[in-house]
Amino acid sequence: MQMSGWGRYPVVDAHLLQPRTIEQLTTKLGAHSGQDCIARGLGRSYGDSSLAAEMLGTHYLQHFLNFDEKTGDLSCAAGVSLAEILEVFVPRGWFLSVTPGTKFVTLGGAIASDVHGKNHHVDGCFSEHVSRLKLLLADGHTVDCSRTEHSELFHATCGGMGLTGVIVEATLRLKPIVSSFIQQTLIKAVNLKDALEQFENHADFTYSVAWIDCLATGDQLGRSLLMLGEHAKQGDLHSGHAGKLSIPIEMPSFLLNRYSVQAFNFLYYNKVRKTRSHQYIHYEPFFYPLDGIHDWNRLYGKRGFTQYQCVLPKSAGLEGMSRILKRIAQSKKGSFLAVLKAFGKGNENWLSFPFEGYTLALDFKLDNSLLSLLNELDQIVLDYEGRLYLSKDARMSEALFKQTYPHWERFAALREQTGADKVFNSLQSRRLGL
Ligand SMILES: Cc1cc2nc3c(=O)[nH]c(=O)nc-3n(C[C@H](O)[C@H](O)[C@H](O)COP(=O)(O)OP(=O)(O)OC[C@H]3O[C@@H](n4cnc5c(N)ncnc54)[C@H](O)[C@@H]3O)c2cc1C
Repeated sequence: MQMSGWGRYPVVDAHLLQPRTIEQLTTKLGAHSGQDCIARGLGRSYGDSSLAAEMLGTHYLQHFLNFDEKTGDLSCAAGVSLAEILEVFVPRGWFLSVTPGTKFVTLGGAIASDVHGKNHHVDGCFSEHVSRLKLLLADGHTVDCSRTEHSELFHATCGGMGLTGVIVEATLRLKPIVSSFIQQTLIKAVNLKDALEQFENHADFTYSVAWIDCLATGDQLGRSLLMLGEHAKQGDLHSGHAGKLSIPIEMPSFLLNRYSVQAFNFLYYNKVRKTRSHQYIHYEPFFYPLDGIHDWNRLYGKRGFTQYQCVLPKSAGLEGMSRILKRIAQSKKGSFLAVLKAFGKGNENWLSFPFEGYTLALDFKLDNSLLSLLNELDQIVLDYEGRLYLSKDARMSEALFKQTYPHWERFAALREQTGADKVFNSLQSRRLGL
């Protein structure tokens, strides 16, 4: 079966197993053929982190186990998606403490990537709201891990990209809300300096994110629309529904070029007239603007696309991000989706991506000259002591990974100790020399 991540690059021939119970999953592992295998959730990671000869799908591990109305602690199987959690719990007045930009990810996938949301500067990563997880190890045993029990396994697994074992269930804390609406403030930033200042000036907002016009140059380099948000204090409680739009076929990739991106960016930036405006919107368009269009990854054509997401320390923010944006503008490779966020402090997990600074994420259509541009961007990231996000990556070199993830050796040692290195390997882990 031909399989890929969300970016549809790379594409590999793989066998997707879909065990119906944890027992079946354990049996499958016991009958492990010696081929590389890795857990697979909803395949929303962009590159090759959930690709291997054998992929252990969590599609059927989809049940809720327990909910504590007093604390908001929800236990469920790892294949439950964030969309399913929202559908059941928003009407009861609960929301995810941290959510990525799509709700179509599984609980297991969210923990394995230790995903971040628009509130990282306030609430940290997803795993910071996870108190316990059950992990199926390479030898077929399951262990309960938390910050106090098997804590090394816990910190290696949160952000560990499926390389310590298969997360089969977890307990996460939801947060109370009184409305399914968001009070949004939209601010136009004239350039990157202005955008970074606006992030600092509005650091007390729970949610913040900026869309950047990555083709703007000169005085307008990095011009952005900053979106700030708070859960509204009134309104009804209802979960949203996925939009009906979809991209039915692979679009010819020539449709996406610097002219179409430039035109889109111009219209998008200029449709907002006031420097500052306020809106009252449902949480769906605020958190998941792309989820309304199914299969939007087909827009990039047959060869697929990749997302380049880096973080740079705060001190390097303006200079480093300016260099990256200048190089992209020069290359004339536009990205519709160019997003800037501020990160708060990093956590104790060994391979979690965020640390205090700014993160920039850009989608690029695959073409012959893209990889050399990305190699140049890598050098800038390295110059400023930044790093790339494993969950978006499809091409980072082993050297770059090892230079920028300081706990990789500890992680590799734990994998060896638990036998995970003999069983759980993805295309990505092979490439990164783990
Ligand atoms: C439109 C879009 C927006 C996004 N926005 C954000 C964002 O704002 N912030 C952010 O941090 N990420 C973001 N992402 C990335 C996404 O949240 C992560 O890649 C997430 O891990 C995907 O979950 P999944 O269930 O699809 O996992 P998959 O893509 O299937 O797998 C991802 C990784 O998790 C591992 N894994 C999956 N399930 C398990 C399990 N049960 N046990 C152990 N390991 C497991 C896999 O082996 C793999 O390494 C976005 C992705 C998309 C497509």
